[in-house]
Amino acid sequence: MKAATFQGAFKIEVKDVDDPKIQEPNDAILKVTAAGICGSDMHAYDGRMPLPPTGWIIGHEYIGEVVEVGPGVKNFKPGDRAVGSFVSACGECWYCQKGWPSVCTRAQTIGFFMVPGAQAEYLRVPNAHFTLAKVPDNVSDEKGIFVGDIFSTGYFCADRGEIQPGDVVAVVGSGPVGLFAQMAALTFDPKVVLAIDSMPERLAMSRKIGAVPVDMKNEDAVSVVRQHSEGRGADVVLEAVGYAESLKSCFSYVRPAGIISAVGMYTEPEFPFPMFQAFLRDLTFKIGMCPVERYMGKLLGLISEGKVDPSIIITHTLPLAEAARGYDIFHHRTENCIKILLKP
Ligand SMILES: [Zn+2]
Repeated sequence: MKAATFQGAFKIEVKDVDDPKIQEPNDAILKVTAAGICGSDMHAYDGRMPLPPTGWIIGHEYIGEVVEVGPGVKNFKPGDRAVGSFVSACGECWYCQKGWPSVCTRAQTIGFFMVPGAQAEYLRVPNAHFTLAKVPDNVSDEKGIFVGDIFSTGYFCADRGEIQPGDVVAVVGSGPVGLFAQMAALTFDPKVVLAIDSMPERLAMSRKIGAVPVDMKNEDAVSVVRQHSEGRGADVVLEAVGYAESLKSCFSYVRPAGIISAVGMYTEPEFPFPMFQAFLRDLTFKIGMCPVERYMGKLLGLISEGKVDPSIIITHTLPLAEAARGYDIFHHRTENCIKILLKP
């Protein structure tokens, strides 16, 4: 099959590789019909996160058609359309049972280190019985794919913010995850969702979603947040960037006794946490990786009912053969790129 392979920093090549095969009873093989290029793929692409041997297949956002299942997989059959989590979880360990598959003791990350990735014609999905969700007929690949990673992550971020009707929500970042945090936040009936970013095309997308864009380059974002909240600050701040600087900014947007919920992927090892300020202001701070399996079914339902349309953020759809160009566009944020899908 053809697959996008990592050949060293900034070097992606589409090559012929062996087709994946069923290895464990709970495996399924998916014929990939669309795969995303994700912000976290950039950690590998630019060399921040070292990947295993040259030739590794990247990609963990996928949707497709089941073509083969192992004997343990009873809930899927060939021909089913399925989308799946970027972390394959067992569904049986203590954490999976408690609703935290993101920290499954037998978790296998797809596209990073453990399971070869999804930017390919076929993908082996371990623990398919738990990792995959069936895609309703009226949900297109473009609408459904993101529940396996970034839409669930954005929703998780908003969900953990415990948004109450009438709340002022500030979202730091209008990248793909930030946009989905905004889309998710709007489903909780807030007074306003303020989208804080500096890139015009991203802010324009936030407006399209229904958030109020705040251009932090040309506006004082802290005062804008205060103007919307009778001077208090945001009830809930959602962080979706993944740099210490943006995490730090959350503390200036949040009101006393407010909640900060962060899902940005940090590669910086430490952050000078403002403990005294957090104590005096009674702040709640949450951070973490989304337990995707908890959200996939619910979000596919919202999409199927027409309540949200995640496909709105896709700016580029490229054939898999043009994966290298896709990575280049995404990395340099050229062509007003926000989100790229690859189609094998
Ligand atoms: Zn588990």
